[in-house]
Amino acid sequence: MNIHADPQTISAAKGVFIDNDWRPAASGRTVPVVAPAEGVAFAEIAAGGAEDVDRAVKAARRAVEGGAWGRLSATERGRLLTKLSLAIEAHAEELALIEARDTGKPMKQARADMVATARYFEFYGGAADKVHGETIPFQPGYFVATERVPYGVTAHVIPWNYPAQMFGRTVGPALTMGNACVVKPAEDACLTPLRLAELAAECGFPEGALAIVPGLGDEAGAALSGHPDIDFISFTGSPEVGTLIQTAAARNHIGCTLELGGKSPHVLFGDADLDMAATVIANTMVQNAGQTCSAGSRVLVEKASYERVVEALAERFGKLTAGTPEMDRDLGPVINATQKRRIEGFFARAEEASVPVLAEGRIAEGVPAGGYFLAPRIYGPVPRANELATKEVFGPVLSVLPFEDEADAVRLANGTDYGLMAAVWSLDGNRALRVARGIKAGQVYINAFGAGGGIELPFGGMKKSGHGREKGFAALHDASTLRTTIVKHG
Ligand code: NAD
Repeated sequence: MNIHADPQTISAAKGVFIDNDWRPAASGRTVPVVAPAEGVAFAEIAAGGAEDVDRAVKAARRAVEGGAWGRLSATERGRLLTKLSLAIEAHAEELALIEARDTGKPMKQARADMVATARYFEFYGGAADKVHGETIPFQPGYFVATERVPYGVTAHVIPWNYPAQMFGRTVGPALTMGNACVVKPAEDACLTPLRLAELAAECGFPEGALAIVPGLGDEAGAALSGHPDIDFISFTGSPEVGTLIQTAAARNHIGCTLELGGKSPHVLFGDADLDMAATVIANTMVQNAGQTCSAGSRVLVEKASYERVVEALAERFGKLTAGTPEMDRDLGPVINATQKRRIEGFFARAEEASVPVLAEGRIAEGVPAGGYFLAPRIYGPVPRANELATKEVFGPVLSVLPFEDEADAVRLANGTDYGLMAAVWSLDGNRALRVARGIKAGQVYINAFGAGGGIELPFGGMKKSGHGREKGFAALHDASTLRTTIVKHG
């Protein structure tokens, strides 16, 4: 298989996946799938709608209530997840090729994404029968125990930036806990989730355990999040849609987790290992062309070392190159024409506000003219009130801001609506820990920055980055509810 393989062989255009079977969308309509590096459609997905969602939710309900899925033990569920992890490993190259064409990301990043996706199912497969409840001392004559139990039918609305990883991240823990999952992947990139569902069926997941309804957000997405018979919603995407999801959950009196992005800061003190910090900051910023919710898009620099830091960052940013997946350069294109225009809007407004460009990378020669490529940029010093200091760009754009002292650094780090991830760079361990503990973010690194971190590490937002935790054992907690059994034995 190569990157231009016929999408029919990669299960695109097969429709909606319900009860381990493909069927066309009830409406018969489809949505074109555009390759961001080429700017042309290369496949079609089904345009699922309310009727398809209803069928998927009914199948999921049958699966958890009386169906084969609901009757499996935790150990048996874990074995199925482990099997799926091995299947992902066995199909890793095929999946990476699909992902790279669908999202435009370099092949090395798509391959790394498949390693992470397999790891989600490996981690959660092993965890399935290790989730314990507790006993609670109560009045004499009583025995009380708690257990974590599935919600029932869980809905998952996922974005286009890491389709396979997001699938593993949200569906992995939900299946582990025994929920039946209905997934609405993003219309901009969803071929790997479709293929992963097919692999799950081949691994023996019973009918109804996992359904995928591709389609548009305001059709399939709205129908799923508003469906009266779902028990929980997990959402990753924009704050605007997050508001709609939480409102829909409130109408149904059910819970939800929201992961809505960030404006994650690096706090860089003069005594940091600058060589390491600058390399990590530049490389992680352009990962996935900056379209990462946890991207470290603000560098806050101690004033006395500002010139030195800016020079090191500009040197690295100047060398970064955007190319097609096959060229396998530092970054690929952004996802679509709308996102490209949006980011160019930030560039135009920065120019109007005379925010200096410190360095610009380049676009490789020979990329298709229709591709949505942008050269990465670094701006600084960015005024604190400028939108580049506060708004999520979701593109390969880095903002540098100087700070005065430790207190100013913490204030600045916390000075946006977001609180997803942060890093502190300093070789003074006490100071690094003090500052890290002052930052309101779900994950804070010291002398490191892993976009999303390991699968073992709880991940999620504070403030308007959202609520709920994914990854690690924390995700198993959020993918289940608690039953307390009280026995009066006298
Ligand atoms: P989006 O929020 O519109 O899409 C995310 C998912 O929500 C997709 O599956 C989409 O189909 C679905 N959706 C859209 N409208 C819906 C509705 N009315 N009801 C239910 N589901 C709906 O995100 P986008 O438009 O693809 O990207 C726009 C911005 O979102 C980006 O610029 C970025 O800031 C942010 N974003 C964040 C993340 C993240 O990881 N936190 C990922 C993607 C996008």
